[in-house]
Amino acid sequence: MSDEGYEMEYIKEAFDTNWIAPLGKNINEFENEFAKKIGSKAAAALTTGTGAIHLALKAAGIGEGDIVFCPTLTFSATANPIIYQHAIPVFIDSDYKSWNMCPNALEEAFEKYPEVKAVMVVHLYGLSADMDKIVELCKKYNVILIEDAAESLGTYYKGKPVGTFGDYGIFSFNGNKIITTSGGGMLVSDNEERIAKARFWATQSRDQARHYQHSELGFNYRMSNVVAGIGRGQLKVLDQRVEKKKYIFEFYKRELGNLDGIQMMPTNEWDNSNYWLSAITLNGNVRPIDIMDALEKENIESRHVWKPMHLQPYFEKFDFVGTDVSEKLFDNGVCLPSDTKMNDGDLERVVEIIKGLWR
Ligand SMILES: *Cc1c(COP(=O)(O)O)cnc(C)c1O
Repeated sequence: MSDEGYEMEYIKEAFDTNWIAPLGKNINEFENEFAKKIGSKAAAALTTGTGAIHLALKAAGIGEGDIVFCPTLTFSATANPIIYQHAIPVFIDSDYKSWNMCPNALEEAFEKYPEVKAVMVVHLYGLSADMDKIVELCKKYNVILIEDAAESLGTYYKGKPVGTFGDYGIFSFNGNKIITTSGGGMLVSDNEERIAKARFWATQSRDQARHYQHSELGFNYRMSNVVAGIGRGQLKVLDQRVEKKKYIFEFYKRELGNLDGIQMMPTNEWDNSNYWLSAITLNGNVRPIDIMDALEKENIESRHVWKPMHLQPYFEKFDFVGTDVSEKLFDNGVCLPSDTKMNDGDLERVVEIIKGLWR
């Protein structure tokens, strides 16, 4: 089956049945199909993954002055909603084993801030965090766990989809993610009552009344029915996308993995990654900037690994627990081109340009 084609069918249905805006069958079906796919009891389709994180924090009761542990190695969209809720992020270092939140640093943070209210864990680049240890610590300290799985739809930790280990999980369908609706997000939880509440907040908190009545602060975060139609079509090709992403990773690993000073991103025995991006680290003479420059000369885009939050001008005033792991991953890491539309010829080209730096 080709990678495309399902979307138009659902969008057309939305038009044909006059369900163009804002609610309708596609939204309900997208939520149901998504929840079923990852094995969660309930899901709320929203305009963005960032909005989903915001509502997860709100649903978890995070508010003014509450402390939230957050990985430092992530996209700013993980941390921003903590500020929207007037809460206080404390940034946690990564470990080399998973690139994600280091359980030892997390434990240290619990000792330092026993009053912490929630832990946000991120699964970067399709790699799952060390969930057994993180879940155990959250249970021990009785705090809420939220999973930012924006980059990791289709990733499994010990056979269970990431995003379903915590009290809340979030996913993104932004343009660059493994499936996309051009923009969108999903909040999932086994707590159906909290998900219903999130839908209520996401539609301006309109009370049940004939007039417009609001007893709570509202947000305009609800996904549209047309966008949900795209999501339904995209969900059908998720497994194919994961297969292709894995193929791309294996291609790079085979061709580049033996070059002096290159390490592929880690894959652990617990992990069934979606390989969203193929990332490498370098510890020899060739630096990330050399690879990025060489590719850019050929009009090929590659990126640094995320710059840690505790090194960002906006966030550096918040505390950080850990050492220099995330900083080293940033200094030494590159994300290689990993678009599922790349063919073998495209991959060969990237590989040849990079190998050229070793000649
Ligand atoms: C993309 C992303 C988000 C935000 O998702 P949007 O849908 O773009 O708002 C959050 N966290 C991480 C780690 C992401 O990569």
